[in-house]
Amino acid sequence: MEKRKPFIAGNWKMFKTISEAIETSEQLVKLLSGTIGKDVMIAPPFTALYSVSGIIRESCISLGAQNLFWEKEGAYTGEISPAMLGSAGCKYVIIGHSERRQYFGDNDETVNKKVRAALEAGLIPILCVGESEKERESNYTFSVLDKQVKKGLEGFSLDDLKTIVIAYEPLWAIGTGKTATKEQAQEVHLFLRSLIEKEFGDKLSGSIRILYGGSVKPDNISELMAMPDVDGALVGGASLNPDTFSKLVNYN
Ligand code: PEP
Repeated sequence: MEKRKPFIAGNWKMFKTISEAIETSEQLVKLLSGTIGKDVMIAPPFTALYSVSGIIRESCISLGAQNLFWEKEGAYTGEISPAMLGSAGCKYVIIGHSERRQYFGDNDETVNKKVRAALEAGLIPILCVGESEKERESNYTFSVLDKQVKKGLEGFSLDDLKTIVIAYEPLWAIGTGKTATKEQAQEVHLFLRSLIEKEFGDKLSGSIRILYGGSVKPDNISELMAMPDVDGALVGGASLNPDTFSKLVNYN
């Protein structure tokens, strides 16, 4: 089985104007110029995608979007299509982030449509799943994740999913400063990999990258990445500062 390439992804959320995004990405290109053997992505807000795309084009950094709408085009005021993201230079798109599920009504059905639309447009979906604190305390973690993954990926073939990335982001760890312990992350990542194996076979379960997200910082990334089933990190707050994000990418 080929080794899975570590993937460090930054989600800028609703931070940075175009000029701030340009400045941050210019600094990142310099700071990360020697990076080899890792995939790196930044996901700026929609307004800055095209400008950032021009800056990172020749670098090791790829561009991602934070969301999309599943229709190709039409009267959908305020929405962004997969092709629009592709034309702005995106390679990846984050789908089903817990903030979208919590504030904007994304659910397993709409997430499934978004994953399909992304794949059809040649984008790589990063499917986010995760349990709330209450669900963890009531021992529902695995059943919640089981449903999110099965519904999110319902109707796809093994071939459809060969590029897809999963991000495990426990809600209680996002933006709270509370990180899952490396043992908690490993336990869930192993569960998710076994679920993928059951649903789609061991070829996909062996190659699929499962990222951990939730208050990842330079001082906890190494121990998380040392876990056998943690293949990378989806980073929110700590991805906004170029020095901090480059430290995360250069963990060892
Ligand atoms: C996220 O938004 O995906 C995230 C993990 O945020 P933070 O790193 O700030 O917890």
